[in-house]
Amino acid sequence: MDFETTFIAQVITVIGFAVGLSIAVASGRYPRHIRNSLRAYAYGKLLLGFAFLIAGLRGSAAPGLLVPLANGLGIAGLAMNYTSVRHLQNRPVGLLMPAAVGLAVALACFLLLLAGGGISYVRILTSFATSAVLLVIAFEVLVRYEDRGIPHYVTGLLSATLAMVYLVRMGAGMVQGEMPVDQMVDDRVERVTFQLSMLGTVMGAINYVLMASDEFNRELTKLAHTDGLTGSLNRRRLFELGEVEFRRARRHGRDLTVLVLDIDRFKAVNDRAGHPFGDRVIQAVADCCAAQIRREDSVGRIGGEEFAILLPETGAEAGRLLAERLRSAIERQLAQLGAEGGVTVTCSIGGVSLTREHSEFSDLMAQSDSALYDAKHAGRNQVRFYPTMALTPALHA
Ligand code: GH3
Ligand code: MG
Ligand code: MG
Repeated sequence: MDFETTFIAQVITVIGFAVGLSIAVASGRYPRHIRNSLRAYAYGKLLLGFAFLIAGLRGSAAPGLLVPLANGLGIAGLAMNYTSVRHLQNRPVGLLMPAAVGLAVALACFLLLLAGGGISYVRILTSFATSAVLLVIAFEVLVRYEDRGIPHYVTGLLSATLAMVYLVRMGAGMVQGEMPVDQMVDDRVERVTFQLSMLGTVMGAINYVLMASDEFNRELTKLAHTDGLTGSLNRRRLFELGEVEFRRARRHGRDLTVLVLDIDRFKAVNDRAGHPFGDRVIQAVADCCAAQIRREDSVGRIGGEEFAILLPETGAEAGRLLAERLRSAIERQLAQLGAEGGVTVTCSIGGVSLTREHSEFSDLMAQSDSALYDAKHAGRNQVRFYPTMALTPALHA
């Protein structure tokens, strides 16, 4: 495979336009951060298409204008790939960065040529800029990206490899020195660089789409696991995690405590202050729970105004302390919100810690429910652990 650079430039133009247009059209139906990423990528590819369209013409006419324009557009298009990766991770950067990078490169090329610096200086400068942007992309994907998969590694390695290719092109520019434009645009180094850029554009586009699809799947999974009102886990996910934690704790002989929390006299809250206010109370209670637990713990909304909390590596003593802290935090922190609606917001909590007698996770749920029932009957706004009687000997010990 040894095509002329003009031909390869035309192929990259077609690929750039085809990929850019397809992704731009498809981007509309994705969640916001993925949509922004897809659009940034699509616009980047369109810029790259224009860059190579112009690069294909550069040998024939006005290189003093076409070379800076092609390089400026190409670098801006490449920098948009970086922008798109950032959007994918919900860490957006503005469009100013790619525009500024492209403009700076175009201007530097233009001035170099105007000052009579010759085309090989342009080649050195643009190769350096291209490889710098590629290395930034590689760093972003290989180091900073959380939850990397195979397409991320391929994209990162591809960017790093292409960065090396452009460094070689830069070296060639330094070694070869000045030469006529028509000779340079089709020398060996230029041909290899263009061919590898073409390959990189195709492989990069495929792997970027895979990365975006990975992100979309992650988003769907998150939605499937989350309760819409509070952002806590939903009932199904909480029970799934409960089963996992239960099996792990049983197998390794570790502690596990489960709490069930129910807002007291919530019907009255709804009746007095209205359903929307009731929803705000449920959200505030969920926020309180999330603020009190550790990273390893999980909180899920398992009913209308009822939450379950999984506390791995937590025995009865520590679980009871946490439950009490949570109960009092809710009483204290929701006092103001309650006053707004003319109600008092408290909750009752039932808990249980894993023992040898438990053979299923549902045993823990049933027993913490029964402890919750005790707390309600004992007057509400309190914590009870199952079995209630077992506490008595411990207190005398
Ligand atoms: P108790 O102290 O015994 O728990 O009394 P309670 O009034 O809280 O009793 P119960 O748990 O049976 O009442 C739950 C109420 O929660 C009934 C229902 O109208 C209300 N509810 C359930 N889901 C929602 C919701 O999503 N939003 C709002 N605002 N209310 C809800
Ligand atoms: Mg209730
Ligand atoms: Mg209830």
